Amino acid sequence: MAASMASQAAARGLRTATSKRFLLDKRKGTCSTPRRWLNLQEYQSKKLMQESGVAVQRFYVADTASEALEAAKRLNAKEIVLKAQILAGGRGKGVFDSGLKGGVHLTKDPAVVGELANKMLGFNLTTKQTPKDGVKVKTVMVAEALDISRETYFAILMDRACNGPVMVGSPQGGVDIEEVAASSPELIFKEVIDILDGVQDEQALRMAANLGFKGPLQRQAADQIKRLYDLFLKVDATQVEVNPLGETPEGQVVCFDAKINFDDNAEFRQKAVFAMDDMTESDPTETEAAKWDLKYIGLDGNIACFVNGAGLAMATCDIIDLHGGKPANFLDLGGGVKERQVYEAFKLLTADPKVEAILVNIFGGIVNCAIIANGITKACRELELKVPLVVRLEGTNVHEAKRILTESGLPITPAENLDDAAKKAVAAIRK
Ligand code: ADP
Ligand code: MG
Repeated sequence: MAASMASQAAARGLRTATSKRFLLDKRKGTCSTPRRWLNLQEYQSKKLMQESGVAVQRFYVADTASEALEAAKRLNAKEIVLKAQILAGGRGKGVFDSGLKGGVHLTKDPAVVGELANKMLGFNLTTKQTPKDGVKVKTVMVAEALDISRETYFAILMDRACNGPVMVGSPQGGVDIEEVAASSPELIFKEVIDILDGVQDEQALRMAANLGFKGPLQRQAADQIKRLYDLFLKVDATQVEVNPLGETPEGQVVCFDAKINFDDNAEFRQKAVFAMDDMTESDPTETEAAKWDLKYIGLDGNIACFVNGAGLAMATCDIIDLHGGKPANFLDLGGGVKERQVYEAFKLLTADPKVEAILVNIFGGIVNCAIIANGITKACRELELKVPLVVRLEGTNVHEAKRILTESGLPITPAENLDDAAKKAVAAIRK
C-alpha cells in the first residue's frame, strides 16, 4: 500500500526521480519517501548546464509551431531534434493524444519541425512516468541534433545511505535505465563523493572508464563529470541526471538530456532557480494545499483521510484498505495547526467529487485536539458538509475536543480508535 502511494506520488511530476531511487534502493535498501522537489524543464536545466561549462547542443525554445519552424531555420543545423518539454522522462517512447508517436523527433527538414510541433503543442503526451492521461505540452525545444555513437547514463544525487552525494553511472544509457538496473545490476556503477573533498580526478576518470569512454574521450568525460558536480553544488541540487550522456562519432562527449532536482531548503539562496518553477504541471489541489502548509496526496478511492503526520497517513490508508475501503487521498496537517488550516483542509477534501466519506485521524502531540475540533465544527457548518464524517481524536486536550464535537449537535460519528474509525468510514460508504 505504502509503495503504491509512494509511486503514485512520485509519478506525478517527479521526472526520473523514481529511477534514481530505484537504482540505489536495489543495492542499499534505502527507504524513499515521496517528497516534492522543485522540477525544471529540460531547457531550463540545460541553460544552467551551459552556464557551468557543460557540453549541451545549441537550442531554442518555442511555444508555437511557427516559432518552432523559425527556430529550426535559425539553427541552420545538418539535423534537428524536436523535443516536447514536460516534467516527465521517457518522452522518446511517449505518445500524444494527437496520435503522434514519440516526444523526441529527429529530422533534417525545418518544415517537418513545424508540422511535428503542430502535433505536439497543446496536446497531451503520455509516457511511462506521467499520469495515464498524460501532460499537456506547452513548450518544445528545437535543438541541433548530433549523431550519437554511444549512449551512457550518468547521475549525481544525494543519497541518505551514503550521507552525501553519490555518482551513479552505466555504460548502458539512453532510455529505460530502470530496466538496466533490474536486469543487469552489475552494469550500474557507483562512486561515493566526499562532500568536503569533492570529486577526485581518479574517481571521475574511473567513472568515465566504467561508462566505457576510451582514449581521449575518457579525459573529456571525466571533465564533464567534474563540471556536472560543480553545478550540482552550485545550485543546491539533490539530483543531476543526464540520460544519455553520449559520445559522437566526431569524438565529443555531450549531455543530450538533463534533469535537475533541487533542495527546497535552499530556496532562500537559489532565488533565480526557484523563480523558474512551473507549477502548472502540478496537481492544483496539491498546490492549493501547499499554500496553507498542508500536504495533499491524491489517491484513487473514495474515503478522504485527514491526518497529522505521514506515518499516521500511511497507517490510516492501510487500515482503510484492510477493512475493504479505498482512500481517496490523504491530507497531512503537520504540527502547529491553526483552526484556519483545518477549515481549508476540509474545503479541499469536500471539493473532490470522489470523496464519499471523511475520516479524521488525529493524534494530538504538539497538536491541540480542541483546535481541530473547533476547526471541524466550523467547517461542517460553513461548508454544509454532505458526506459522512468519522472522527478519531487522541492525545492533547482530547476531552475538551470530544465535548466540542458532541455539543455541536452535528452528525459526526465518533470513533474509539483507528480500527473502529476505519470500520465506520467503510460502513458509511456501503450504506
Ligand atoms: P527522454 O529521456 O524523455 O526520452 P531524451 O532527451 O533522453 O528524452 O531523448 C530520447 C532519445 O532521443 C535520446 O536517448 C537520444 O537517443 C535521442 N536524442 C535526444 N537528443 C538528441 C540530439 N540532440 N541529437 C540526437 N539524438 C538525440
Ligand atoms: Mg533521457
